[in-house]
Amino acid sequence: MIKEIVTDDEFLSRPSEKATAEDASVAQDLLDTIAADEEAACLAANQIGVLKAVVVYLDEQDKPYIMYNPVLKQGLYPFKANETCLSHGDKEMKVTRFNKIQVAYDDLVDGALVPKKRKLEGWTAVVVQHMIDHCNGKLV
Ligand SMILES: [Zn+2]
Repeated sequence: MIKEIVTDDEFLSRPSEKATAEDASVAQDLLDTIAADEEAACLAANQIGVLKAVVVYLDEQDKPYIMYNPVLKQGLYPFKANETCLSHGDKEMKVTRFNKIQVAYDDLVDGALVPKKRKLEGWTAVVVQHMIDHCNGKLV
């Protein structure tokens, strides 16, 4: 279901709870909502009003990826990036991001969460760091 984007900083500042396999419907709502928004590159569950650590991001080919409980495990080559947030309109903020990261997350496979790791770099690495911050209640 397509959801409205939350812009309330107080709500977005709360850390999300660990997601479980029962949160598959949240993941589906994230997919529906990001598909309906032409500008969105990533979306965290708290941005659609659910305080669970589930995120979706699009890769360079606009293919969506869901991550449950993403955690940054390693970051290399920090740099200063200008970022906007879907919950904050066009306002640009300067943040430090890593150009190369390793992320641990859970993937939903046959109704159960399975731990996985992924190495990302460049654009997708930055987007996923922004998402992990959202799960921790951190805003740019
Ligand atoms: Zn954001």
